[in-house]
Amino acid sequence: MTQPVSGPLAILTGGSTGIGHYLVGALARAGYAVAFSYRSSPDAAQASVQALEAQGLTSLALPCDVGIKAQVEAFVAQAVAWAGAVPTLLVNNAGIQTWSPLLDLDEERWDDVIRTNLKGCFLHTQIVGRLMADAGQGGSIINIGSGCNKLAFPNLVDYTASKGGIEQFTKSAAVELGRYGITVNCVAPGAIATERTAEEAPDYAATWAPITPLGRVGTPEDLLGAVLFFAGAGSRFVTGQTLWVDGGVFTRA
Ligand code: NDP
Repeated sequence: MTQPVSGPLAILTGGSTGIGHYLVGALARAGYAVAFSYRSSPDAAQASVQALEAQGLTSLALPCDVGIKAQVEAFVAQAVAWAGAVPTLLVNNAGIQTWSPLLDLDEERWDDVIRTNLKGCFLHTQIVGRLMADAGQGGSIINIGSGCNKLAFPNLVDYTASKGGIEQFTKSAAVELGRYGITVNCVAPGAIATERTAEEAPDYAATWAPITPLGRVGTPEDLLGAVLFFAGAGSRFVTGQTLWVDGGVFTRA
């Protein structure tokens, strides 16, 4: 049976797999009505909604390419209609990463990474930020960055440029949106083991754990404290910040 929608509305991008999938469930368990987008994994997204429903929790999964303005407008409008409320939390999580030497990097690949990772963050922040500002109740915007915010990584120039952009976007957006009581912060994960990292790099943990001061790779659960902190009442005077959740690996680097 479909659960009635209850709790403040949280919008999260890219909730079908990995970190986003975990955060959808965790935010729902924390009391949010969570609306999330996906691009190419409808089955995973619907399975997630059903699993939460079985626990008596409410979520909504909608297809939306984060880099296409008309789709973002439709996604946000449907989420608001579903919840009957303006969002109080936006998590810009959707992101893609591919590896290529700079000298061989396709123009199309560059565009797709920048469009997904950076333009998607801009579009959602603008559209949701406008709703939050007009509602006059403040809100929290959390951008998922990366340790690539601060380090050079060969063969990842598109990704590092997009994630460096996220950090700077976070700061400037925080300054502009502060007058509306909207905070904008960035959570920057280190090496976080997900289905994607297991598929793409079977030696992920073996590579990262020995160079991480806390001696292991992270899990999506490791990001939850930072997300709930930036979303919650205890951080209402904290904005424009990046918090690295990386087991110390990028502090050491
Ligand atoms: P995944 O590939 O597992 O998940 C990415 C999510 O983004 C999926 O739900 C995917 O949806 C969605 N997505 C991708 N492109 C689009 C798009 N154009 N429109 C809408 N949704 C889209 O990655 P992770 O969970 O590992 O990464 C999540 C975030 O964390 C990313 O921003 C990533 O850069 C960041 N990060 C991850 C780290 C890690 O070690 N895992 C380290 C540092 C940062 P679908 O499958 O439906 O297309």
